[in-house]
Amino acid sequence: MKKYITIFLITLLSCNQLVNNNNEYKIQAQVWTQNSAEYRALCYQAFNAAKINLDLFFLNKKEFDKPLAIITDVDETVLDNSPYDGKLILNNISYNRESWVFWGNLEKAEAIPGSLEFLHYASEKNVEIFYISNRYAEQLEATVNNLEKLGFPDAKKSNVLLRNDSRSKSERRKSVYDKYKVIMLIGDNLADFNDEFEIKLSEERTNYTDELSNDFGTRLIVLPNPNYGDWESNGIYEGMNYNNLQKDSARKAKIKSY
Ligand SMILES: [Mg+2]
Repeated sequence: MKKYITIFLITLLSCNQLVNNNNEYKIQAQVWTQNSAEYRALCYQAFNAAKINLDLFFLNKKEFDKPLAIITDVDETVLDNSPYDGKLILNNISYNRESWVFWGNLEKAEAIPGSLEFLHYASEKNVEIFYISNRYAEQLEATVNNLEKLGFPDAKKSNVLLRNDSRSKSERRKSVYDKYKVIMLIGDNLADFNDEFEIKLSEERTNYTDELSNDFGTRLIVLPNPNYGDWESNGIYEGMNYNNLQKDSARKAKIKSY
């Protein structure tokens, strides 16, 4: 009987530790993002690819009846919010709207390496820059201010399209497509590129990505983000609203071995 009570207490303690360390699994990704030279190198690589493709586009320039535009995401694409993730980890709290808006209102996010230089290069070639982000509508002023302080081109309310009723970026992308020839999209989440990525789960996302393999690094420029994104919510958790213990199991179930 004593043995079973001991096992029960150990199990209870383990569960309790897991519940109390919900962000433990995020530490490696966060350390990598904030400290590895490789993270920065990948960002430069993404924007260098963008520049090469922009130059190629102008070399092969055709006549278009619309002005040219680039659509970029904001968070973890041109603005670095890793200090916010760091705060969540160190304080062992989950993402929530209040703390996210608080961080945004500080207007302290730094530019992602290479982003500012590339968008300036494009802007100088008369390409209009649109920032489509799922930040909340109430964050518009702070977002524009943050982008403007860092010197991003076209950092003005008309070009910063934040979340309205829906998380889907489809309508906002369409509003740009209606008036501009969009030559490139930039993002850290595949849903930044098209509607299909918003609905696909698990292996479907992977398979669809393989179908579009020629578009990455050419028309679609991807920034690294191991901290959060649809890769986790739709890929690992398959769109399910799991609790922390279920998430832990889901993550482990996705690890491949031999
Ligand atoms: Mg993003």
